[in-house]
Amino acid sequence: MSGPCVAHPEAAATAVCHGCRRAFCDRCTIDFDGWTLCAPCKNRAVAWSMEVTDYRKPQTAFVLAMVGVFMMCFGIVLDIIAIIVAQKALREIQARPGLPGRALARWAILISSLGLLLHLLGFVAVWVR
Ligand SMILES: [Zn+2]
Ligand SMILES: [Zn+2]
Repeated sequence: MSGPCVAHPEAAATAVCHGCRRAFCDRCTIDFDGWTLCAPCKNRAVAWSMEVTDYRKPQTAFVLAMVGVFMMCFGIVLDIIAIIVAQKALREIQARPGLPGRALARWAILISSLGLLLHLLGFVAVWVR
C-alpha cells in the first residue's frame, strides 16, 4: 500500500475501501461482514442491508399465489394480484440486483399462472355441465 490516507494526510494508507476504492489508514476503515469499508461506505452498507431485509414483495406475491391456488372463486383475483406484484418485484430486482427473492418471485408467477389455469378450467367445467 502506498500513499497517505484520504482523511489523514499524515498517516500511511493501510487498506482500500471496498465501496469507494479509496485508500485509508487503520483508524478510518472497519470490517463489515468481511468487507473493508470506510465510514461513509459502512453507513451506506447498513442502510442498504436494512432496505434489503425489508424487501418483502416476492414473499407477498408467493403467499398470494399459494392462497389463490387453494381458494375457490375469489382465488382467481388473488392469483392476478400475485402475478402483478411478482412482476413488479422482478422488475425492481432487475434494476437493483442486490435485492433478494428473484427465484421466489418467479415461483409466484408460475404458481399463480397455474392457479389461473385451474380456475379457468373449473369455470369451463361448470359451464359445460
Ligand atoms: Zn468507502
Ligand atoms: Zn485515516
